[in-house]
Amino acid sequence: MYGHVADLLADKGRQVYTARKSVTVHEAVREMNRKRVGALVVIDDHRPVGIFTERDVMRRIVDEDRDPALTLIVEVMTPDPVTATSSMSVEDAMALMTARRFRHLPVMEEGALIGIVSIGDLMRWVTLHQAEHIDRMAEYITGRA
Ligand code: AMP
Repeated sequence: MYGHVADLLADKGRQVYTARKSVTVHEAVREMNRKRVGALVVIDDHRPVGIFTERDVMRRIVDEDRDPALTLIVEVMTPDPVTATSSMSVEDAMALMTARRFRHLPVMEEGALIGIVSIGDLMRWVTLHQAEHIDRMAEYITGRA
């Protein structure tokens, strides 16, 4: 009903903010704030090897008393992130995020990172399409179609 992840990316764009393994958490957080995003995909040799999100700052930096200027992102990222493919349905992507309890899903196509979707992107997409669906049903019911 909501199409595929590729449709969402075609609308949202394919920009993914990434970080190399060697950056400090301080640098990573600065970049996240500058770009106004909640997650960075950590890259090694063009491959996504981890994901670092706001939640990791809470859990693995603040709560564990680590110095962000002395901690490398590779030490506190979640390795081997779960990814989606562009051909996955939007419903399946939402179900995956809900089941695994995270809010970001890097998107792969033929082994390459081509985008990222957040729970916010998915909610926006679904809400938009629900509104269109309701309009179409109203037109059908009232005979305006
Ligand atoms: P989030 O809700 O996305 O801020 O992330 C919650 C936790 O799950 C953090 O420890 C993230 O590093 C981790 N996480 C986020 N996205 C993914 C993903 N796609 N695969 C694996 N772990 C993830």
